[in-house]
Amino acid sequence: MLAMNYDLHTHSCCSDGSLTPAALLALARDNGVDVLSITDHDTVRAYDGDAAASTPGLQVIPGIELSTKWAGRSVHIVGLNIDPENPALRQGIARQQQAREARARTIARNLEKLGMPDPFDEVAKIAGDAGIGRPHFATHLVQSGYVRDERNAYKKYLGAGKPGDVKDVWADFNTVVRWITSAGGVPVLAHPAKYRMTMAKLRLLLDDFVAAGGTAVEVVSGNQAPDVTKKLARLASDYALAASTGSDFHSPAQTWTRPGGCAELPANLPKVWDLW
Ligand code: MN
Ligand code: MN
Ligand code: MN
Repeated sequence: MLAMNYDLHTHSCCSDGSLTPAALLALARDNGVDVLSITDHDTVRAYDGDAAASTPGLQVIPGIELSTKWAGRSVHIVGLNIDPENPALRQGIARQQQAREARARTIARNLEKLGMPDPFDEVAKIAGDAGIGRPHFATHLVQSGYVRDERNAYKKYLGAGKPGDVKDVWADFNTVVRWITSAGGVPVLAHPAKYRMTMAKLRLLLDDFVAAGGTAVEVVSGNQAPDVTKKLARLASDYALAASTGSDFHSPAQTWTRPGGCAELPANLPKVWDLW
């Protein structure tokens, strides 16, 4: 029997992805995904109604990606197999949404200080019903001609150390892990390689994540290099964490990642789906 294709980290237009939940499901199924989670930033709106209900040939595991702060950085924790209706989780999401709006206003003020007209209203329009994220600022900066493409928007204005890098608004590990476990979910440290930390620093982070009740880690994320996967597999095994995998797909325009396009997880590791 062929191995099942799991993609447990994707975004819809309910946060900063470009596809509706229904379109994302259809694309995932076309790509051969067997089990999918839509993990939008700080929202479970994709699971309202039955737009993301499991369809023949595709099982959907409800999920979310929550922003947290750790040691002055922004770190993402994915919650998988959550009950989207859980009141503690809903309260947490409401708090995150307030934090997200406060952050957007701070970013807008920081950009205004650089001489742009306050971009908040324009960016809010671009975000529509979704919570405002940096990709929406990136779109605005390109549309207004401040930068030639989104890569430069991050390089000049939104990336680490730039005016758009506002992260002190998020809840800590303990709080976010509690929201996820209250909702019956599994807390998964998202894309560890993306933080560009040394292995020593990553171990400090994992000490705190495990102490907070974290039980899994994304050993495979997007199209990361095999040697990175090997390092993360070692970490997962050292910390007795279950392994998860996800494309972190946002849009078909990102040619480097697609739903279901991840490399297989190392065979020797316990899998996150065995925790539900
Ligand atoms: Mn995103
Ligand atoms: Mn993330
Ligand atoms: Mn993501």
